[in-house]
Amino acid sequence: MQVRFWGTRGSLPVAAKAATVRDKVATALVAADGRRFADEAEARVYLETELDFAAAHTYGGATSCVEIDVGEGAFIVCDMGSGLREFGLDSLGRCAGGHTREWHFFLSHLHWDHIMGFPFFVPAFVPGSKIVIHAGHADAETALRRQQEEISFPVPFDWLKADIEFRTLVPGQDYAIGAVTVSLIEQHHSHLSYGYRFRDAAAKVAVYSTDSEHKIDRMEGEADVVAFFGGADLVVCDTMYSLADSVSMKEDWGHSSNIVAVDLCHEAAAKRLALFHHEPTYSDADIERMHRESIRYEELTRGAAPLEVLCAYDGLVVEI
Ligand SMILES: [Zn+2]
Ligand SMILES: [Zn+2]
Repeated sequence: MQVRFWGTRGSLPVAAKAATVRDKVATALVAADGRRFADEAEARVYLETELDFAAAHTYGGATSCVEIDVGEGAFIVCDMGSGLREFGLDSLGRCAGGHTREWHFFLSHLHWDHIMGFPFFVPAFVPGSKIVIHAGHADAETALRRQQEEISFPVPFDWLKADIEFRTLVPGQDYAIGAVTVSLIEQHHSHLSYGYRFRDAAAKVAVYSTDSEHKIDRMEGEADVVAFFGGADLVVCDTMYSLADSVSMKEDWGHSSNIVAVDLCHEAAAKRLALFHHEPTYSDADIERMHRESIRYEELTRGAAPLEVLCAYDGLVVEI
């Protein structure tokens, strides 16, 4: 199974500004200290191996969109944030190479940052495409149609040429999408949200759990979440805020912290955690600092097996 991150930012898309790129280039030049590079490939090796991630890269700014690829069958995609535009084009390229023209979406919820990519999803405009939109919310179709009403967008939903079907899923049941078994759990968030657990034919498990508030002072009530994360090879988790923010001014905003995510994954004996849904006001350096702190916290609180803590960025591919 491969998990591909097409959008990892929370709430609002962001783009790196000119000053941000300038600062990164300046940092790299100073760190190179006059060294010569034979070509760009050699320079890239230096950037990859000798600079911090935040100095040489960006976590990116597209909103939530994560692909679960098991190497066969239909495309499986979690959420339709602005990262969906790029995935749509990439998937059409794969269709030209023989991939089946069928897309199955699993929506965490209907907030704008999780559906805003759909009007820009090119396969929806192509006759012969089959699109199935799965959601725990019975009003998913209402939300998607509404964002394409004339007051908001020039192309109405009914103009789309794909065969589009909506399916409302029920927590506690298993659903089969080809060789993949999917289940869902209700989460604490404004208008509710749902987490999804995907298991492939080789019993590899990826969990997608975003926009979910876990209260640090009520963790004993999270047994159902721990069971849902149980033994997962990868848990993609909402870690929008630092712990200090999440328990002070941003309590009840519907999101969680890196600390709570590590605690839940430890309890669930998950193997890897990907920090996800990054706060839009956080710089690359802020996010990298939170990643380092999460790794340190994981080491300090580790029981038996280690939990690998990744930090999701637009373009990350995780093989499990
Ligand atoms: Zn969100
Ligand atoms: Zn939300």
